[in-house]
This record gives sequence, C-alpha cells and structure tokens, in this order.
Amino acid sequence: MNKLAIVVPCYNEQEILESSCNELRKIINDLVDKDKIDKDSFILLVDDGSKDRTWKIIEEEHERHKEIYGLKLAANVGHQNALSAGILAAKNISDMMITIDADLQDDIMVIEQMVEKYKQGNEIVFGVRNDRSRDSFLKRTTAQAYYKIMNFLGANSIYNHADFRLMSKRAVEEFAKYTETNLYIRGIMPLIGFQTDRVYYERKKRTAGESKYTLYKLLILASNGITSFSTKPIAMVGVLGLGIVFLSIMAALYTIISSFFAPVDTQWSSLIISLWFIGGVQLSCIGLIGQYIGKIYMEVKRRPRYHTELFLDNK
Ligand code: UDP
Ligand code: MG
Repeated sequence: MNKLAIVVPCYNEQEILESSCNELRKIINDLVDKDKIDKDSFILLVDDGSKDRTWKIIEEEHERHKEIYGLKLAANVGHQNALSAGILAAKNISDMMITIDADLQDDIMVIEQMVEKYKQGNEIVFGVRNDRSRDSFLKRTTAQAYYKIMNFLGANSIYNHADFRLMSKRAVEEFAKYTETNLYIRGIMPLIGFQTDRVYYERKKRTAGESKYTLYKLLILASNGITSFSTKPIAMVGVLGLGIVFLSIMAALYTIISSFFAPVDTQWSSLIISLWFIGGVQLSCIGLIGQYIGKIYMEVKRRPRYHTELFLDNK
C-alpha cells in the first residue's frame, strides 16, 4: 500500500520535460528497487493547455514508459488549478502523492526522505527551501515581506514552502473538500492538520526554458494568498474610517478651544472638518458592510469546519 504518484503541472515545458521525466523515472525506479514504494507507482504529467509540443512529448513518454501518465487540460488554467486537477485525478489511484514543478528546481533527492516520513505516519510532508541566496535581492526581500504580511493578516503560511510536498491519500481526501475556485493550495494545506513534517532542501536554478510565472501571474497568486484566507483587510478599512472620524472630532475640539484665545476662520474650519468627518463616517460604514460581505465570502466557500483524525466509539 505504498503506491506513489508524482504530480507534475506542465505549461509550455518542451525544453525540459523529457529530461525531467527521465530524472523522475530514475527516482521512482530506485525507490521501487529499494522496496520503498509499490512497483506500479507513477508520474502524472498535467498539460495545462500548453501551446508548444508539451502534450506531444507526454504522449511519447506515455507510449515508451508504463509509469508515465498524462492528463491534458482543455485550456490554460494556471499552475494552482492544473495542480489541483492532477491531485484530484491521482487521488483514487495512489496511496501518497508528491507534487513538484516540471523544471525540477526543487531537489528530487529529498523525495526518498518524504516517503520515509510518510511511512513514519506523517500525512503531509512539506518541502521547505533552506536557502534563498540564489534568488535576486528583489525576489528575496519581497518574498520575505509577503510571508510577514500573510502572517500578520492571520493567513497560515509556511515560510519558504511552495508546492513541493507529499500528501497521503487521506490528506488529499480532506483537501478535496475545499471546493473554492480561487485556489491557493499552499495556504490550504496547513489548515488541514494531522501529523506533518518538513524536509529541507536547496532550490536550484531553472536549467532550461523560462519561468512560466509572469509577474502578472505571480501578483495574482500573491493577492489570492491574502484575500482567500483573511478578511482582515476589510476590517482595516473600517478601523481607518474610525480613526479619521476621531481625528476630525479632535480637530473640531481644537478649533473650538482655540477660538477662545484667538480669532478662528470658522468658515474654513467647519468646511474642512465636516469634510473629514463625513469621509471617515463613510469609510467606517464601508468597513462595517465589509464585515458582512466578509462573512458571506467565508460562507460561500463552504470550507470544511474540521477534519476528523480519529473517532473512538463504543466497542
Ligand atoms: N505552470 C502551469 N501553468 C501556468 C504556469 C506555470 O502549469 O499557467 C507550471 C509550470 O509548467 C511549472 C510550474 O507551474 O511546472 C511552476 O512554474 P515555473 O517553474 O515557471 O515558476 P517559478 O519556478 O519561476 O516560480
Ligand atoms: Mg520553476
């Protein structure tokens, strides 16, 4: 019962796919030889509506090697959706699965450790980068700031963990209960719970092809990460509004008090103070309405309220 699936989303990866397949097959065969995983373990390549020869390569690899499976999506739906398509397709035909990017920037040598940790009873094993020195200064600092903001806003995130992880069938079944459309998988996984562990690795540079994450796609991902897990930004709008109301009241008091000591331009003061006051009231009302919208937002996601680990009942 140790059938492993390696799920790989691929978007325009013709330059690198063949060599990645070979490396992953080597890992699978090696683990099968060591009797660590079942011999019918497989690699599922998910073609995310590629426009190049990616699907052709997947078909050829599938012809040539029994351990290569392919799933073709009808259009490009983005990394997270492609990944979830692969995860759900492999759910019922594997006991554990590992997700990894097609460029194998994540270290495939830790796959064995992940499998070991799964056998020790971990339902999720997170791959965590222990070194960002290869990233540009800009990417490193923005990534760091992003994790800090995420944590401040109350969204669960594991620092330096992307989408390289092992999930047991059980964890995948719980993940499948998250039916939301705007997916940020790495935010959902820590919510599930169970016994988990981490493996650490160094992330390599892409050896062929270019990053398929354009700045635009990266920004969408980042925005999804925050807005899918926290309604705090709405609450902050309300607090800002209340702050402005408070300041305008202070300004009014100041004007009134100083009018006792010196002449005050009442026309200008009343105009500007009421302007700020009304602005603040409006902003705090928007924040209030936002609280309800936030609740509606949380409700329509229909996320599971809990995940059961064990149930001891009457013997
Ligand atoms: N990817 C995808 N759909 C997309 C964009 C990317 O399936 O619309 C895949 C891509 O093929 C790769 C993974 O997502 O396997 C991560 O992309 P990439 O390596 O380009 O991102 P980076 O490592 O630069 O963040
Ligand atoms: Mg990459």
